[in-house]
Amino acid sequence: MRRTAVVWVFIYQQKTYNINIKDEPDTVKTVCDISFRKDITMIGAIAGDIIGSVYEWNNIKTKEFELFSARCFFTDDTVLTVALAYSILTGTPYVDNLKKFYRFYPDSGYGGGFHRWAKSVNSKPYNSWGNGAAMRISPVGYAYDDLDTVLQKAAEFTEITHNHPEGIKGGQATAAAIFLARKGKSKDEIKDFIETEFQYDLSRHVDEIRPFYKFNESSQETVPQAIRAFIDSNGFEDAIRTAVSLGGDTDTLACITGGIAQAFYGGVPDPVANKVYEILDKRLGKITREFMKEFCEGI
Ligand SMILES: [Mg+2]
Repeated sequence: MRRTAVVWVFIYQQKTYNINIKDEPDTVKTVCDISFRKDITMIGAIAGDIIGSVYEWNNIKTKEFELFSARCFFTDDTVLTVALAYSILTGTPYVDNLKKFYRFYPDSGYGGGFHRWAKSVNSKPYNSWGNGAAMRISPVGYAYDDLDTVLQKAAEFTEITHNHPEGIKGGQATAAAIFLARKGKSKDEIKDFIETEFQYDLSRHVDEIRPFYKFNESSQETVPQAIRAFIDSNGFEDAIRTAVSLGGDTDTLACITGGIAQAFYGGVPDPVANKVYEILDKRLGKITREFMKEFCEGI
């Protein structure tokens, strides 16, 4: 894990966004064009969350399943990912937006620690090593243009709640994998970097992991498995199917895998992206589109 002090310059030009998140999701006007690019950001993570949502409590150890069923829904992974995208877009504090989005979507499957934190007045981090850090971090991998800044921002956004070393490590490793994939690094290069910098063991193929993998909400037992699911995939959809096939916390596994897979494979297939937007409400869809319009260029 790279935790050295980093001097960085925030060159992103702040803009004013027409995003009124107080609007009711069903009544707010859409301000962005609904035009899809193949290299859009963050949809991969959200797609993974939505596709994995129905298998968290009903694990299937196979890659053969209906990709989007009528029971699919977005969960806390999506809500907190979009809250982070909103913070980056607007320059408003993530601590405030985490609580704001929690109030918008109070029943999205948060862990007990996050529920308590979101309702707290003092907002002190609760030393979590949960996989919630990695599930929400994908916008960082897309928004910043050098590795040191990605690692620094990943740590900053994570330690608001998940200030345990394993929580920070999970957030940084996920953001770094997305960044490296986005920059055209090979799977071997990404694997080597993650193993060297974060000491995750990525040596086992998913076929070796799958038979023994069980539900585990820790960062250290979710992030390496999700990265390995990406390594063993042959395309975006296959990456999501591979993550879900491991079982366990499927929405979060597939969310982490999906963020990396999108960056590596150069996008999310249009049918998947279109379905994601059907399932997101207008508020989440609007912020997601604004984020991708800002950060998709040149990826
Ligand atoms: Mg979830």
